[in-house]
Amino acid sequence: MGKPTGFMEYSREKAKEQPPLERIKNWKEYASRLTDEALQIQGARCMDCGTPFCHMGIEIRGTAAGCPINNVIPEWNDLVYKGKWKEALERLLLTNNFPEFTGRICPAPCEGSCTLAITDPAVAIKSIERTIIDKGFENGWIQPRMPKLRTGKKIAIIGSGPAGLAAADQLNQSGHSVTIYERADRAGGLLMYGIPNMKLEKDVVERRIQLLMEEGIEFVLNTEVGKDITAEQLKAEYDAIILCTGATKQRALHMEGSDSEGVHLAMDYLTSTSKSLLDSNFADGKYINTKGKDVIVIGGGDTGADCVATAIRQNCNSVVQFGKHPQLPVNRAADNLWPTDPHIYKLDYAYAETDEKYGKDPREYCIQTKKIVADKKGHVKELHTIQMNKVINDEGYAYFEEVPGTEKVWPAQHVFVAIGFEGVEHALPEQFGVKVTNNKIASVGKKYATNVDGVFTAGDARKGQSLIVWAIKEGRGVAESVNAFLTEYAAL
Ligand code: FAD
Repeated sequence: MGKPTGFMEYSREKAKEQPPLERIKNWKEYASRLTDEALQIQGARCMDCGTPFCHMGIEIRGTAAGCPINNVIPEWNDLVYKGKWKEALERLLLTNNFPEFTGRICPAPCEGSCTLAITDPAVAIKSIERTIIDKGFENGWIQPRMPKLRTGKKIAIIGSGPAGLAAADQLNQSGHSVTIYERADRAGGLLMYGIPNMKLEKDVVERRIQLLMEEGIEFVLNTEVGKDITAEQLKAEYDAIILCTGATKQRALHMEGSDSEGVHLAMDYLTSTSKSLLDSNFADGKYINTKGKDVIVIGGGDTGADCVATAIRQNCNSVVQFGKHPQLPVNRAADNLWPTDPHIYKLDYAYAETDEKYGKDPREYCIQTKKIVADKKGHVKELHTIQMNKVINDEGYAYFEEVPGTEKVWPAQHVFVAIGFEGVEHALPEQFGVKVTNNKIASVGKKYATNVDGVFTAGDARKGQSLIVWAIKEGRGVAESVNAFLTEYAAL
């Protein structure tokens, strides 16, 4: 610990952001780096507190507390304070395969657990992480690491999201030959198609994929396992298979008018926007365009916020986001109907943008959509809603009830449904003979192994919709299990 009094001398400084009215004119990342000097000061604020909760990585009621991949944060904070960026990078890469993703868009449970945050704002850990890895690329410290030997074992990974990529990286470095199958035309899973460009620029994702390819990982794109190639074919060809297919099944809206034209699942909207941006800078017109339209986003979570920010950049006429669907679990305080988020970084960039552009927060609390009404051509024209009231019964159980007389009609030519994900798609695990429990691929016996010998699973497919940092943890964990399996198998 370089500066014992740093936490008393210096204040927290957060990553800089482009001003909302500027950033909505483009699709570039809205957050940028602090200066090296400012980050060294942040490093000096770390107290090396003896019990560093920041790197403990536990889960409390489904929410991460501390870093799930156990980044040894006090160590690299200290190295950054001393200006030893390369050594800090070496320390960071021991636990995190892709700090360029987490350093940009992790909600930073580490900061939520920072001991300093008991009395003062947390150390700006996420900003430090991002700059360590960015400097690694800029200074040429990140170079392809070629495995020294090859074991002759072949592994297929299905799905190229952060879980599949982390597993591939670990197993490739162990000397196995890894092939990733991906049904999309680009690798990266939700990092590529899902998370909008203004949160994570796609050349950051492509740079990592390129590096993994140079290190020997093979990517087979545009290939849906289960359709274009069967489970049996893969089982015959590979020594181990890992299902990292994500929790891609979206929860649909079933109500009068929900099949009207102009009503879309959120992921169709976000994916088509990212793809058209990358393919042609929108020249192909193959995206859902809200320019000049009234937009309603149903669903108060982060996916909904990403839809709001996307619509603003397309120059929509108005945007409103309805929170709290009464059928969803009630886990929020009476005065907070948005996802409870204990972390320092809330993904609320979209709300600041709407505030400044339209002079109003887009969020409408406790609204229940009753029906969607279409025009004569079948295109959505309005939503009929009623206000809900949260009630806590005698047993302490919360539920919602309609407030009579609060019916309202909202104009809308586009509606985006962002009410969560049901979990993994069942067809592929079924083809493998793999058990699915509660819409998650069930790991049986040893963690990450399924009921089928040689078939493993990790990421959102196993855990349910989560965070990138958890997907990386899952990828690293499954790689350990597969390594153990292949070693035992080799010894037979
Ligand atoms: P995914 O990233 O979902 O990847 C699964 C891949 O499997 C996909 O590419 C899919 O095409 C492929 N696949 C599926 N079936 C097949 C098949 N049969 N054959 C071939 N390929 C197949 N987390 C954060 O930490 N910060 C954020 O800011 C954040 N923002 C988010 C925004 C949105 C809109 C969404 C939806 C999620 C966000 N998340 C965020 C969550 C995070 O992206 C996920 O938890 C993470 O990507 C899960 O990784 P994964 O590898 O398990 O699955």
